[in-house]
Formats: sequence, C-alpha cells, structure tokens
Amino acid sequence: MNTPNSSSSHRSREASQAAYRAAQFETSAASLTQLPLDEGLEVAFAGRSNAGKSSAINKITSQKSLARTSKTPGRTQLINFFRLDDQRRLVDLPGYGYAKVSEDIKLRWQQTMEQYLVNRQSLQGLILLMDVRHPLKEVDQQLLSWCQHVGMPVHVLLTKADKLKRGQAQNTLLKVRQVLKESFPAGQATVQLFSALKGTGLEEIFRVLDQWLYSEAKQG
Ligand code: GDP
Repeated sequence: MNTPNSSSSHRSREASQAAYRAAQFETSAASLTQLPLDEGLEVAFAGRSNAGKSSAINKITSQKSLARTSKTPGRTQLINFFRLDDQRRLVDLPGYGYAKVSEDIKLRWQQTMEQYLVNRQSLQGLILLMDVRHPLKEVDQQLLSWCQHVGMPVHVLLTKADKLKRGQAQNTLLKVRQVLKESFPAGQATVQLFSALKGTGLEEIFRVLDQWLYSEAKQG
C-alpha cells in the first residue's frame, strides 16, 4: 500500500517539477456537458472544502495561485482544467462538504462527481485530499466507494501534516492505509502524508502523478 513503483518514476525530481510547473489554466466547466474533449490523459484532485486542495495544486505546480481558493459556500462549482501539454491535464474538482449548501446542490454535486468518475475515459486516477486531522469523512468514503466500484486508482494525500506531531501523523497514515487495504484489496489505493507549507511528500506525489501520466505504456 505504499506509493506504487513505476518504470516512469526514474526521472529526477527536477524533471517532474519542470513538467508540473508547465501547468496552465485551460478551461472551466460548470457542468459535464462543458468538459473538454475526453482524450489524452488526466488526473483529478478532489477534497472537502478547506482540505488544502488549492494549496497542494499550487505546490505541485510550483505556482502561487494557479488554483484559487474560494471561501464562499455555495458559489458556482466549477471543474477547472490545467493543461500540462497537448495530451495531459490536471483537473481541480469542486470542493465539497459545506454544511450550509442545500440538499439540491449536494445532490447535484454527487451526481456530477459520480458521472465524471464513472464515464471519463481519460481519467487515470484520483488524488483524494483529506486534512490529516480529519480523515475519512462520509463524503470521502463516498468518493472512495465510487472509485472502488469502477476500478479507478486512488491516491490519498493526508494534508497539513505539519499540523501534527510526527508520531500522530504516522498513526493516521497507518490507520488510513489499513482502511484502504480493506476497501481496495487489489491495492489500487495508496496514501501518503503531505504538507504544502513545508513541501513534505512532494517527491511521493510526483511519483504517483508520473506513473499515471508519464509511464511508458502511456506515452503518445
Ligand atoms: P481548499 O479549500 O481545499 O482549496 O484548501 P486551501 O488550499 O484553500 O487551504 C485551506 C486552508 O488550509 C488555508 O488557510 C491554507 O493556508 C491552509 N493550508 C493548506 N495547506 C496547508 C499546509 O500544508 N499546512 C498548513 N499548516 N496549512 C495549510
């Protein structure tokens, strides 16, 4: 249940960093009918609001404000696409878990996420972000179960690892790893600690992204 090994992960940290630094905003979709063409390869990032998703995307791409944070509950929820090159994209899925939004909005969010995860051919894997202090909330479990259902690989980022003492963070890591092992016996779910503030875990996430987007089998 560790970060998967891959033939692609031999490139240096600098090479990976350069590839993700190239990310540029491409387009936003307000609904599934507005998604860019379903071709090439993409990796999506999902997480409850405030999980640290924007900070993680900005850290991974070495950009200060590629992914923007919005503190407005219930604002129009957009799916944002960031282009790495002609064939590869990172996708910022709408945050979820605002207590204040209506049942209608929640239901719409659920339907959108499920449809996207189930039908998107170019989607190679989901990065699921959870605050290390509050892992595996109900909505996280919901996303995990859709991924499990359709065989979508998942990599969990336990974010803000700097907020806990090392031992506490390790305990959470082991606990979440055990839960994933039970739900994904074939091992297509992995987990790591991450801190956008300190840069902890950056190489590990690069390896996962490299495997999903740049492994030899996926070139061209
Ligand atoms: P999003 O809503 O999931 O996009 O979350 P943001 O990236 O906007 O982060 C939510 C809050 O957590 C902000 O106040 C961030 O500064 C803070 N945050 C994000 N990542 C980290 C981290 O690695 N360490 C610490 N200490 N705070 C973080």
